[in-house]
Amino acid sequence: MAFPVTRLRRLRRTAELRNLVCETRLTPDAFVYPLFVCPGEGVRREVRSMPGVYNLSVDEAVKEAEEAHALGVPAVILFGLPDKKDEVATGAWEENGIVQRAARALKREVPGLILMGDVCLCEYMSHGHCGIVKATPFAQSLGAAARDTLKSARVVAVQSEQEKATAIEKIASQMADYARRIEFEIDNDASLELLARTSVSLARAGIDVIAPSDMMDGRVGAIRRALDEAGFSNTPILSYAAKFASGFYGPFREAADSTPQFGDRRSYQMDGANLREAMREIELDIEEGADMIMVKPAMPYLDVIAAARERFELPLAAYQVSGEYAMIEAAARNNWIDRERVMMESLVSIRRAGASIILTYYAKDAARLLG
Ligand SMILES: [Zn+2]
Repeated sequence: MAFPVTRLRRLRRTAELRNLVCETRLTPDAFVYPLFVCPGEGVRREVRSMPGVYNLSVDEAVKEAEEAHALGVPAVILFGLPDKKDEVATGAWEENGIVQRAARALKREVPGLILMGDVCLCEYMSHGHCGIVKATPFAQSLGAAARDTLKSARVVAVQSEQEKATAIEKIASQMADYARRIEFEIDNDASLELLARTSVSLARAGIDVIAPSDMMDGRVGAIRRALDEAGFSNTPILSYAAKFASGFYGPFREAADSTPQFGDRRSYQMDGANLREAMREIELDIEEGADMIMVKPAMPYLDVIAAARERFELPLAAYQVSGEYAMIEAAARNNWIDRERVMMESLVSIRRAGASIILTYYAKDAARLLG
């Protein structure tokens, strides 16, 4: 029956009618609120490119979590800014790591709040990559070549053989290091052990949901085995299953101080052009034991969310990332858009695409509007 019998505007006439026929409803219980925890006390440092988002010391993170929880937000996800970084991401898995400390405090002070722990190594590695960086054979052979050349040279101005050997080693390793910055790779299998160790350590500290975001192959299986062996067979895994290498992560790297010092993350995060590959990533994570799956970022990948919803039965999450947030904030500050309206529209679009769980920096503000 076409026009004039059918008039779709009939049901748009009043707010009450529009509400009655609303297809997608947003509720605060869909939200997960990301928190960036840093050392110190009373620290509340705003992230320059994410107005309204802070690096928080444990005591401040507790206050922030209490506030979110009181607004009806059921979960937070924790990211850590460690005291110091190294090449084996010690800060990620040590018992007294920053996220472990925050988890213990939050479990004690905000019972009933679901604690998710982001599992990655980039925030804790001196080089800022998500796994162990290994020099390629080219870098290694360059170091070896430098060593041999210097050994045979007679012009090294040092007193003893011992000093000479030390100087040679230093130069050779500097050259290998230089080459590594051009020619490096992330050692997938060696990184799995650290990711598993981090997950067990987080579960031990009280994290309820382990959320690996590193994009190493096989990490979900490795983490599942390690959790089970350590007695955490009831701890679920929310896998960042389809995580795309994205320019939208820019502000997060400032927030979490995790910018790679060389190269980029395209050798492990996904190519934004690939939808079918995203389905394979998700499928493999499910086979390895993921309990929930995630697509990240959200807005530029709504079609991936929709395809995943269509194809898989698991609870589906989407991460509205820092760049999505920063764009809305920046435009709103210029009075170019209506902040609240665009915020809610962006969240509804993620929900409509099929995500039932939304990780968002707007968790508190949106919950307040919905309340
Ligand atoms: Zn990472």
